[in-house]
Amino acid sequence: MIHEHHVLNPATEEVVATVPATPAAGVHAAVVRAVAAQRAWAALAPADRARLLRRFAAAVDARTEELALLEVREAGHTLSNARWEAGNVRDLLDFAAGGVERLSGRQIPVPGGIDLTFLEPLGVVGVIAPWNFPMPIAAWGTAPALAAGNAVILKPAETTPLTALRLAEIALEAGLPEYLFQVLPGAGDEAGNALVEHPDVAKIVFTGSTRTGRRIMAKCADRLKRVTLELGGKSPNIVFADADIEAAAAAAPDSFLDNAGQDCCARTRILVQRSAYDRFLELLAPAVAAHTVGDPADEKTRMGPLISRTQLERVRGYVPEGAAGIRGSAPEGPGFWFPPTVLTDVPADAPVATEEVFGPVAVVLPFEDEADAVRLANATDYGLAGSLWTRDVGRALRVSRAVRAGNLSVNSHSAVRYWTPFGGFKQSGIGRELGPDALTAFTETKNVFLSTEA
Ligand code: NAD
Repeated sequence: MIHEHHVLNPATEEVVATVPATPAAGVHAAVVRAVAAQRAWAALAPADRARLLRRFAAAVDARTEELALLEVREAGHTLSNARWEAGNVRDLLDFAAGGVERLSGRQIPVPGGIDLTFLEPLGVVGVIAPWNFPMPIAAWGTAPALAAGNAVILKPAETTPLTALRLAEIALEAGLPEYLFQVLPGAGDEAGNALVEHPDVAKIVFTGSTRTGRRIMAKCADRLKRVTLELGGKSPNIVFADADIEAAAAAAPDSFLDNAGQDCCARTRILVQRSAYDRFLELLAPAVAAHTVGDPADEKTRMGPLISRTQLERVRGYVPEGAAGIRGSAPEGPGFWFPPTVLTDVPADAPVATEEVFGPVAVVLPFEDEADAVRLANATDYGLAGSLWTRDVGRALRVSRAVRAGNLSVNSHSAVRYWTPFGGFKQSGIGRELGPDALTAFTETKNVFLSTEA
């Protein structure tokens, strides 16, 4: 059993903090407390719950800079990204707070009485978060679950527990009831597993690797526990010859280098129509070289380090020595650095072209026509996101509909907004987060018939 985790600054390898690991017994005790807290929370007037969540949002807003700096230190995120991420937590809480008083059921016409539906809270929800976006992903599950009347136990990733722990303190400072939102740092196979197996945890929201997601879903199946899974991706960036090639090439680096490529939506398969292929690469090379990699605390830095040595070794394993393509630069010395890398001349079925690398590595593959582009885009087990670049509106819609993925963008790489739905097809997950129905995913529909004939 692991008793504690050392949190390292991935840019320097210095120990930032040492955090105790919650044992399975600690998870059990937390669930007991959460059950009681949830009952009291669900009994509050909707307006009071909404007000407390807005206070939580305001408290996060007041501490954006503190949270951002913490994320820079524990996760190596660039300062501008980390500020956005703390702001995303605030926005999620505000958005969810707006849903508390709008969580309406329906009145359905029936003979002999009145039929009503109620959206009842599930009870205690377990959120298991990854290390790539510790704050936003924690909030995507937590904010709507709380708003729908549930208690939440969040298990952050081993490498990135600090912002989550701080958010739990901020929640208390803002006036949220004790034990309504608990953060339990610990190992996946100990604390995470205890949440998954606990009979009083009604739902698991998991974000992470497809492999772990599958294992969690199998365990939840034993108890018919509800799950939402946000898993891996290998998303295409399809560039048609009729597109604004300059714009497509200028936007491509950010689409797979943001967060050093540790993004489930990273557009790591760049598919370019053959007639525009050479021109696109000519434009892409300087754009990749201009992507500054270095100290994430420096405002000018566009890309920081990878999260850990394990991740660095994993990413290295995908890139053969001397492989053809475009390479940026990265710092030497301590820290988990890997340069921006675009591989050309890679077979479409090579591991680097089919598996989720989770690093700053993309492949470029040529295609002939629209049908070929769709075939290549869909030649993956994943189906999370994708982009396409074209000036033809009909093609934009045809291809968006034909690509089997949950989040498509046309002439942009935007994928995630808290008020639009997010989630994957195929091996990229089950269920949706965010968007207008975010709260509903944390409720059970109850149908009640009242006779008017008695
Ligand atoms: P992981 O999926 O194993 O871990 C994610 C979270 O699940 C962590 O909090 C972890 O502690 C927890 N966990 C692990 N095993 C568990 C179990 N048996 N029961 C309950 N919880 C458990 O991911 P990882 O090992 O940190 O990273 C491995 C690879 O996964 C990465 O290289 C990347 O390819 C992928 N990944 C994807 C995402 C994503 O957002 N899609 C996020 C993180 C990692």
